[in-house]
Amino acid sequence: MSAVPKSLEELLEALRCLPGVGVKSSQRMAYHLLERNRDGAQRLAAALGAAMARIGNCHRCRNFSEEKLCSLCAGESRDEHLLCVVETPSDLAIIEQATGYRGLYFVLLGHLSPLDGMGPAELGLGLLQQRLEEENIQELVIATNPTVEGEATAHYIAGIGRDAGVRATRLAHGVPIGGEIEFIDRSTLAHAFGSRQTID
Ligand code: ZN
Repeated sequence: MSAVPKSLEELLEALRCLPGVGVKSSQRMAYHLLERNRDGAQRLAAALGAAMARIGNCHRCRNFSEEKLCSLCAGESRDEHLLCVVETPSDLAIIEQATGYRGLYFVLLGHLSPLDGMGPAELGLGLLQQRLEEENIQELVIATNPTVEGEATAHYIAGIGRDAGVRATRLAHGVPIGGEIEFIDRSTLAHAFGSRQTID
């Protein structure tokens, strides 16, 4: 007989759906909640239930949204000439927090990866193409990850931009601010060296 009640076993198993949470951390979390913070656990359970039930994707940019249109798409404060393409809603959130970007977004919810069944349709590229044709977008800022798949996706999307007559730009890759050349990986350094700029 196991010393662990069945519902606790289920909780431990469920917690392991979180990224980076294995057997040890799931035990630490579950026992912490049961021993010391049952109110917090109830709040967490309610918030999880509500978020999963209410949050869908914006019909225009595919970012997370409770409404048909997210607040960025529904508002009028954004520069409608700029459209930034990102892989995930969390990438969008980080760009919002870290940069002064004031344009609109398009969230791919992944990257091209034929082996995983991720093609143009799964990334909503038909919707992106339609937006480029119908809206007054002048620059497509492609902010997919600098991985093999992210680069292939960027290349494909730049082609859609070209067909729609919209200029596509790609985020610069380079030496991190505060970084030291000695510790930078070689492909980043090679890319930064190749994209060197004039000092004015
Ligand atoms: Zn939106």
